[in-house]
Amino acid sequence: MCATPKLHNWGSPPWQIDFTATSKPAPLPNVLDFAVIGGGFTGLAAAAWLRKIAPDKSVAVFEAWTVGAGASGRTGGMALAESAAGDLPGLGDVLAGFSEILDELGVECDRHLHGAWEVGRDKALPDSSISWNDSGTLRVTKEIPGGTIDPGKLVSGLARSADRLGAHILENHSVANIRWNDAPEIELATGAPGRKKISARQIIIATNALSLGLSGLQRGSHPRLTLAIATEPVSEEQLEKIGLAQRKPFYTTDLPYLWGRVLRDNSIIFGAGLVQSPDSDDLDGVDISTAEPSRIFAALEERVRGLHLALASVRFTHRWGGPIMFRDSWKPVFAWHPRAIKKKNAIVIGAFAGHGVALSSYLGRWAAEALTGRRELPEWGEAEG
Ligand SMILES: Cc1cc2nc3c(=O)[nH]c(=O)nc-3n(C[C@H](O)[C@H](O)[C@H](O)COP(=O)(O)OP(=O)(O)OC[C@H]3O[C@@H](n4cnc5c(N)ncnc54)[C@H](O)[C@@H]3O)c2cc1C
Repeated sequence: MCATPKLHNWGSPPWQIDFTATSKPAPLPNVLDFAVIGGGFTGLAAAAWLRKIAPDKSVAVFEAWTVGAGASGRTGGMALAESAAGDLPGLGDVLAGFSEILDELGVECDRHLHGAWEVGRDKALPDSSISWNDSGTLRVTKEIPGGTIDPGKLVSGLARSADRLGAHILENHSVANIRWNDAPEIELATGAPGRKKISARQIIIATNALSLGLSGLQRGSHPRLTLAIATEPVSEEQLEKIGLAQRKPFYTTDLPYLWGRVLRDNSIIFGAGLVQSPDSDDLDGVDISTAEPSRIFAALEERVRGLHLALASVRFTHRWGGPIMFRDSWKPVFAWHPRAIKKKNAIVIGAFAGHGVALSSYLGRWAAEALTGRRELPEWGEAEG
């Protein structure tokens, strides 16, 4: 059973989510063919794909708040290949698959897959355009496949696509529990008055770092709030000086950790720092205005101003946090729910660490294909513990 969610105090990212569900959708059937729990990139891509490949089946997305309220609407939006654990057997080409999904679903999200940079304090590339003062000198060490997207546009585009294809997108419908009957029964904590339960033949649980009681991911997983800041727009000249004029996103491969990217309006996002829930796995309880997150934000802002003279007096416009989940193995979870192993009627997907922008939609599509018998689940996705 998962507690009724509270409204979270995680600050506001710079992204705009622009989605309104169809005002008069077809009524929900008594038994849904597919229920998707969680309206982030994973759940929305899975729902859209289910309707695309099985247009005669009913699909509903249950989202506790509004679409993108979790990591997807709060992410940095750096699209990366593979997974946080590297390539995995049979994973395939994540970035190519991601692009294919967006093209097939007609999602426009300022996708620029022109490369990303690994940066570090050792073994710099001779032509590194970055040279920052950050516990030594931080320089580009490797160029890798990747790029950036606008997360607000990706959430909105996936939601609109799922809605247009006929999926019900039910915002403010928080799932409290699943009863594992013959047709599993979803119990709602919030949602339509009078309708507190709905049965579903098959389920995708895509709640990521939240509602671990539902996903069965309490063991071997570490939910955290990860923190990010955005600067005011800077001039092209400043971008040149700090080495980001090519607008390649970057992340450090050594410590202290730092990642970032340039936005269309020339503001820059930087991220580093994790906060744990003070007294449980319930990240809803974290308030970014309290002492520990405030201290991390202040230190990060000071660190960014110290990276390069051209940033010495830069102002910051946004501070925010978002849920992220790490597993001991760094591999994502992509497996049958422990209560659904025999019947193969519920899949859990999540725990992408900081590597879920492209992979979440990619595995969302794969989950839709697995539930409709078109594909098997991979062996590496089993939950641990
Ligand atoms: C600050 C930040 C920066 C990041 N930067 C990057 C990056 O640059 N590149 C990268 O690849 N990855 C990055 N990540 C990770 C990436 O954003 C995530 O892996 C990805 O968005 C996960 O998508 P998701 O749909 O699986 O989960 P989420 O987007 O978290 O979606 C889960 C949804 O489930 C809903 N939910 C939870 N409980 C319930 C319930 N009981 N009932 C109904 N709904 C429920 C939540 O409200 C939420 O909308 C970052 C993450 C954060 C937080």
